[in-house]
Amino acid sequence: MEKENNKRLTVNLEEYVIQVAEEKARANFKGSLDYYINWLICRDNKSKIHKYVRKRDEDLEKKKPKLIPNSLKAAMFNNTCDFCKEPIYQGEEICKAEGYDNYIHKKCCK
Ligand SMILES: [Zn+2]
Repeated sequence: MEKENNKRLTVNLEEYVIQVAEEKARANFKGSLDYYINWLICRDNKSKIHKYVRKRDEDLEKKKPKLIPNSLKAAMFNNTCDFCKEPIYQGEEICKAEGYDNYIHKKCCK
């Protein structure tokens, strides 16, 4: 959950609230309060969150570069995608795209 577009938020809570939250996070979110609080807020604001996610996905879709035909292949080594900056794992589908020198995820092309 340490992504570039994540922001740090400081909140003040009663000690017993923190204790309960940490117990819950340990039991259900691999100990991550970030995941737990994210889940709580998303669950409580489903339609608004969906709207933002949809908008973000649409914006991202528009920015995707065009796939260069016949360049599709399976990654032979682990690498990083120049479009999304996420890892490319060996065996994942990758391709050449307009404006990119290196292979990127197939899912990052249109
Ligand atoms: Zn990518």
